[in-house]
Amino acid sequence: RQHMARGLPKQKPIAGVKEVIVVASGKGGVGKSTTAVNLALGLMANDQSKSVGLLDADVYGPSIPKLMNLKGNPELTDKNLMRPLVNFGIPCMSMGFLVEEVAPIVWRGLMVMSAIEKLIRQVDWGNLDYLVIDMPPGTGDVQLSITQNIPIAGAVIVSTPQDIALLDARRGAEMFRKVNVPVLGLVQNMSVFQCPKCSHQTHIFGSDGAKELAQTLGVEMLGDIPLHLNIRETSDKGQPVVVSSPDSPEVSESLTRKPRP
Ligand code: ADP
Repeated sequence: RQHMARGLPKQKPIAGVKEVIVVASGKGGVGKSTTAVNLALGLMANDQSKSVGLLDADVYGPSIPKLMNLKGNPELTDKNLMRPLVNFGIPCMSMGFLVEEVAPIVWRGLMVMSAIEKLIRQVDWGNLDYLVIDMPPGTGDVQLSITQNIPIAGAVIVSTPQDIALLDARRGAEMFRKVNVPVLGLVQNMSVFQCPKCSHQTHIFGSDGAKELAQTLGVEMLGDIPLHLNIRETSDKGQPVVVSSPDSPEVSESLTRKPRP
């Protein structure tokens, strides 16, 4: 309302950032943050000339500090902007850099929005080709105001193949469409588990749910990621699988569209 009152356009680009890609999910725990981190690293690995940043907008449960093996408080620049913390060549910003790890974050909606606004705009991002935003899970006010406040090039939606997760993923896709954010596609996560002892494959959450949803929505299936111990372990160690095991099958076979040789 304030913007409107001042007669400014509602969506304001982030200084220095060319394209914003949001990674969203309907539910928590489906692998959204893991995907966001590996997407950012993958974008950079794919083309070293591109600069990529990562913003953790999941202010209630910030996981980027752990996933990117970063901690500490951002320094302030002489323009009073926060300097992102950097690992693997990716500048990152997260509420986790500003509050104690175990402190409960009990906030009202408006405070959450103003915190996210600060994490987005009071940061010296430098010049970025892509800023990947790890969104909070769900389709509430916060998600909606992020999509309304900044111009977004596209959204990547992560879901497990389980019906209940898919239903929420669909809601997510519809939210983005309503606010004219292109849905770049769906990533199906945790679709198959291969027993390391006997190689038997089990579809713990179902097998093709996200593929079917992608068809229904008319969007691309961007990836199909197995449930794999190495993904969990590398994430917990802050050594994302795309950088620590780039040639492993759990990475190379996850992409539905294979990179050109
Ligand atoms: P979200 O951001 O949706 O809450 P996370 O990315 O934090 O989900 O993932 C939740 C948990 O599942 C983390 O412990 C993560 O390491 C693990 N995880 C995510 N994807 C996979 C996968 N494909 N294989 C194994 N573990 C995974």
